[in-house]
Amino acid sequence: MQAEATVSQTDETYQACPSCGRRIPAHANYRSWCECGWNLEPSDQDAPQGRIEATYLKLGQRIGKKLLQDMIQDSDAQGKLFRGRLLTNLFSGLVHAVTAALLIGCCYLIVKGMQGYYFFYLLAAVVALAVWFSMPRIPKLSYDGILLSRQEYAALYALVDEICEEMRLPRIDGLILDHRFNASYAQAGWRMKRYVTLGLPLFGILDREERIALIGHEIAHGVNRDARRSFFTLSAYRTLIRWHDLLNPQDSLILERNWAVFLSKNVLKLLSYIPLYMAVGFIHLYYYESQRAEYLADALSAEMSGTEAMMRLNDKLYGEQTFSMALQRYVLNGQQGSFFEAYKAIALAMPERERERIRRVELLEGSRLDYTHPPGAYRIQFLQRHYRSSAKVALTDERSDRIEAELKKAEPRIEARMIQDFQASLY
Ligand SMILES: [Zn+2]
Ligand SMILES: [Zn+2]
Repeated sequence: MQAEATVSQTDETYQACPSCGRRIPAHANYRSWCECGWNLEPSDQDAPQGRIEATYLKLGQRIGKKLLQDMIQDSDAQGKLFRGRLLTNLFSGLVHAVTAALLIGCCYLIVKGMQGYYFFYLLAAVVALAVWFSMPRIPKLSYDGILLSRQEYAALYALVDEICEEMRLPRIDGLILDHRFNASYAQAGWRMKRYVTLGLPLFGILDREERIALIGHEIAHGVNRDARRSFFTLSAYRTLIRWHDLLNPQDSLILERNWAVFLSKNVLKLLSYIPLYMAVGFIHLYYYESQRAEYLADALSAEMSGTEAMMRLNDKLYGEQTFSMALQRYVLNGQQGSFFEAYKAIALAMPERERERIRRVELLEGSRLDYTHPPGAYRIQFLQRHYRSSAKVALTDERSDRIEAELKKAEPRIEARMIQDFQASLY
């Protein structure tokens, strides 16, 4: 969607805004944008991916502002939280009860079958399939990065452990480094082991205080134990989504020519709305709680790193496009040398116009990086209200250098993976 670029006498590149026609600066390394609002979306994947995400976003627009006020004033937050949790658990109980009822039904049919009514075995098999399908699944640890060893990445683990200690949490079970411009927290396995994933493209361009802020935010999700992370509620939610997916088969034009298939497909489609609306109801229930957890995670990590570092981190989160543009250029131009070196140089030499773009995107009403997080403008307002000038965790030069050296060690592997993924996306 890039307009044709023209070179002016001052050696600066300009292009015409596709929306209003104004002459705007075009920088090879950064996203072009215009004062009229063109290209001022937080990210390329901003459009909701499905009905669940769309609902989440719509709800955010409706009650987001109210929630921010509640967070700032802390009015009846405890009461709301309690009611929200109670309802979420009741709702999850309902979903699991359906599965349990199916299981009991299955046992009943088997007993009937044993009494000589062999036809019931067939029915039992069908119900057993439904039970298997609805059963809560143990969340498996899935990652496609490097699970870091405590020996090899001692300095990085030491920092994470220190932040855990400050938050009065046990040590995390694992640290994963991957190739995405992102960071996340996950619990997996029977014992709900805790993992933090750091994307090197993001973590690599942070200064030491911003690194503390990012790790702090992810770990803080473990403190808040939000609904999305409790096994009971999360598995109920996933079951709902599976029911919906099962009942809503993929479109197929060829199949639709047959009226019987057409009819059954549409009946199934109608049925799929039941779990969908249950899931939507579910989102309503835990929306308040999970968004609140995001604010609290921000507040806690600001205690660790100081509010200034947290705000700088928030700005850097908007740099995904700079990263993907750098990667694209590196691969397509067949550049030599380390990608990370080239990319870091670009990310650290951010021009004023890019800063201005980020400021504008952040303040855009309702703009958010990720549908699970509150809008950028709200997060900033909340952070400013709970300003922390000092940091609880700090890194000495020596420790910071050791972390840097450890990350450097992982760079070639992650770089290779990133390039491979990008090349695969071309075909
Ligand atoms: Zn324009
Ligand atoms: Zn978060």
